[in-house]
This record gives sequence, C-alpha cells and structure tokens, in this order.
Amino acid sequence: MASNLQEQLKVQQMNINERMSKIGKKIAIGSGKGGVGKSVVTSLIASYLVKQGKNVGVLDLDITGPSIPMMFGIDEKPLGSSAGIMPVVSESGIKIMSMSLLLPSNEDAVIWRGPMISGAVSQFLADVIWGDLDYLLFDLPPGTSDVQLTLMQSIKLDGFVVVTSPQNLAATIVKKAISMAEELKVKVLGCVENMAYAKCPDCGKKINVFGNDEDNKMGIPIIGKIPIDPEISKLCDEGKIEKYEIDLGGIYKILEGL
Ligand code: ADP
Repeated sequence: MASNLQEQLKVQQMNINERMSKIGKKIAIGSGKGGVGKSVVTSLIASYLVKQGKNVGVLDLDITGPSIPMMFGIDEKPLGSSAGIMPVVSESGIKIMSMSLLLPSNEDAVIWRGPMISGAVSQFLADVIWGDLDYLLFDLPPGTSDVQLTLMQSIKLDGFVVVTSPQNLAATIVKKAISMAEELKVKVLGCVENMAYAKCPDCGKKINVFGNDEDNKMGIPIIGKIPIDPEISKLCDEGKIEKYEIDLGGIYKILEGL
C-alpha cells in the first residue's frame, strides 16, 4: 500500500516536471496579509506581459478564496480529459486555472484542511495543460501556508514577488513571507506596492495618501507601484481587469532579465 502511494507520488512529480519543462519563467506572487490587492497585482502583471506579446498563464492557488476568474469575468468551466485539464483563456489571451472554475457555483466555499489543499496544489501542477508558456504566475494565498510549501517543494520557482500596501510595508507578516521564500531558496525579486498613491482626477497630480514614506524597511527593492484607483475596483467588479492601462515596465524588465 505504502509503495503504491509512493509510486503514485513519483508519477505525479514526473508529470509536474514534464508540464513545468515547457514553461519559461515561474513566478510566485504572495503577500503576508489578505486584502492588500495581491490578485489585482497578479492580474495586472499578467495583462502587461500579454500586451508585450508574451504567452502567459495564471494559476490561482488561493484555493479557499479564489478571486482571479471573477476579475477576468470568467465563468466558463474548464474542459478535462484523461490527458489533463485545459485552462480557460481570458479575452486578451491569458490562460487561467483556479479552484473556483471547478466548483459548481462561484459562491461555493472550499472548507478543507491542509493536506487536502496541498493535494489540490499538486494536482493543479500535474494536470493542467498549459502547453508552452513564457510566464506562469502563481497567485498565492496570503501568509505562509501549506500551499506555499507544496509549491516551492514541487517546482523550481524563478522568483517571488511580494505585494504590500503602504500601511503594511514594515509589517512582520510580510517579513515572514520573505524569510520563507529565502529559506526555500526562492529568489525574492522585490516588492510591489499596491494602493501606493492616488491621482488627482482634475490635474493628474500624484498624491501620496499614506505620506511620503519611501523608507524601505523590509530591505528589498520596490519594483512597482500601483495607484489606488476607483477604476481598478470597477474593472474588478465588471470582470474586465485586463482593460486597465498601467506601465509596469520596471517589473517587466526584472522578469525578462531572469
Ligand atoms: P487580495 O488578493 O490581496 O486578497 P484582491 O487583489 O482580491 O486582494 O483585492 C481586493 C479588492 O480590493 C479588489 O477586488 C478591488 O476591488 C480592490 N483593490 C485592490 N487594489 C486596488 C487598487 N489599487 N485600487 C482600487 N481598488 C483596489
């Protein structure tokens, strides 16, 4: 029995290696805390990469609180066969897979213990047919959990991007996420500050709502800043996040350089 399970795990890991061998760069996007806009940042980076002509996939690993499909207005169910499961493709061409696409209804909750969640992560890695991709972005759940451990132990990530909001820049919880990445030997690429500033609707001037705190207390570079913008929440609600225009050239340069 034990050897049978071992054999199954070995086959699963072989499948994971085979799928991942077709993917250029594998980037995890995480945050120490929920609600800082991690999924928004993941969606905006994916959309920017697609606009640069890249083949991009997003795996929503926030198993118990998936929100990526909603932001892209996807409610189509993925097609599955014995070969695996096909991601759903967004309007601009981003391949998306998420637990919420597999549930009968968007409102259904996933109430699972750690081992079940880890199992779902491994299964996503082994079974989703991404094909050839330039980038696969992993939207992680907040904090440091089974998902992060399973992911980082199953595949070799090329980098880890931390998302914070200005109020949480110095939070211990963010530092924990970073130290876990470091412990698991994943390169921390930097921090994306979400809701970093607001733009005056009349004159376009940038307003630092949370003060001019450029002080980087985490000791990692800030590689991108995203404004707090009602247009972002509106597009999220409408499922049209890929329509948001923002220059993420700084992040792109870092990802391209990996
Ligand atoms: P997390 O993944 O960290 O839990 P989300 O990315 O799901 O957070 O963001 C939650 C909600 O916050 C979004 O649906 C959106 O309405 C709002 N939001 C996030 N970032 C911004 C922003 N920069 N400007 C305006 N609203 C935002």
